[in-house]
Amino acid sequence: MRLTGADWERLGADADRVAHFIGNRAYLKMHQGRCAALDIRTTEGGAREFFCTVYAMRPQVCRDLGRGSPECEGERALKAERVER
Ligand code: SF4
Repeated sequence: MRLTGADWERLGADADRVAHFIGNRAYLKMHQGRCAALDIRTTEGGAREFFCTVYAMRPQVCRDLGRGSPECEGERALKAERVER
């Protein structure tokens, strides 16, 4: 996902961890088929929890795509096969 200059600035100290430049454009990095900022933890009960490690500083596109919204669900359905489980 492409980032704006404002996104990069908002990410602050985490920018280099979760994003990189390709040419003169910045993008979120991918790790194992998913956003490098996404962390997955397993609870004591064995359930997997997904959360954004830069949530407060997340890019504008992430802010615009409301969690659980029809647009979000559409993206999940469209891109589900890309995720490594
Ligand atoms: S909300 Fe966080 S984990 Fe999800 S795509 Fe945006 S930066 Fe990545």
